[in-house]
Amino acid sequence: MDIILLGPPGAGKGTQSQRLVDSRGMVQLSTGDMLRAAVRAGTPVGLKAKAIMDAGELVSDAIVSALIGEHLDQSRTQGAIFDGFPRTQNQAEALDILLDERGRNLAHVIELEVDEEALVERITGRFTCATCSAPYHDRFKPTAVQDQCDVCGGHEFKRRPDDNEQTVRTRMAEYRAKTAPILPYYEARGLVSRVDGMAKMDEVTRQIDAVLDGAA
Ligand code: AMP
Repeated sequence: MDIILLGPPGAGKGTQSQRLVDSRGMVQLSTGDMLRAAVRAGTPVGLKAKAIMDAGELVSDAIVSALIGEHLDQSRTQGAIFDGFPRTQNQAEALDILLDERGRNLAHVIELEVDEEALVERITGRFTCATCSAPYHDRFKPTAVQDQCDVCGGHEFKRRPDDNEQTVRTRMAEYRAKTAPILPYYEARGLVSRVDGMAKMDEVTRQIDAVLDGAA
C-alpha cells in the first residue's frame, strides 16, 4: 500500500512515518532526508540544493522527482510512505507517472491538520543527539540532565539549519502557496483523509491506523 503524508513542516510527518515503518514494515521515502544526505555527501544535487534548503524554498521538481524515482524500487513489497513529496502539482503528476510505470497506485493521501503558530514553536525548539539521533525539544522534551543525551549519554547535539524562525515561516508560506493547492487533485479521486495533527502523538497514530485499516 503506497500512501502520502501531507502537512506543513513540523506537522509530524517524519515521526508518524517512522511509526508506520516500525509497525507495518513500510518504507519511508522522505525527499528532505534524501536531500540532506546529498548535502552531507557533497554530491552535485547536494551542492545545488543546500542554499535553497537553507532559505526554506523548494528544490526543483526535476531533482526531487528523480530522487524519488531512484528510491522507489526499494519499497516494492511493503509499500511506501511519501513524506514531504509531492510538494507541487508538477511533483504530484510526476509521482503518478512513476507509480504507473511500476504498476502501483496510491491508496491514501493523509493530511495532518495543524495550527501554524504552534508549529513554529514546535520546529524552532527541536534538536537531536549528534551521536544517536534521539529527538528532543527545548520546551516539550528537554534532556533529563542538561547537555546529556538520555539515550546514549552523548554531549553533542544538532539542530537543522533550516529550523530557525525566518526559514520556518518561508517553508510554511511555500506549503500554503504550492503544496496545499494539490489537495483537490487527490480529493477528486476520493483519496484524501484528514487527521488532527495537533492531537497527542499516539492519538495521531491511532487516527492514521484507522484510515489505513479502512475504519475511519
Ligand atoms: P523537509 O525535511 O521535508 O522539511 O524538507 C526540507 C527542505 O528540503 C525543504 O524546505 C525544501 O527546501 C527541500 N525539499 C524537501 N522535499 C522537497 C520537495 N518535495 N520539493 C522541493 N523541495 C523539497
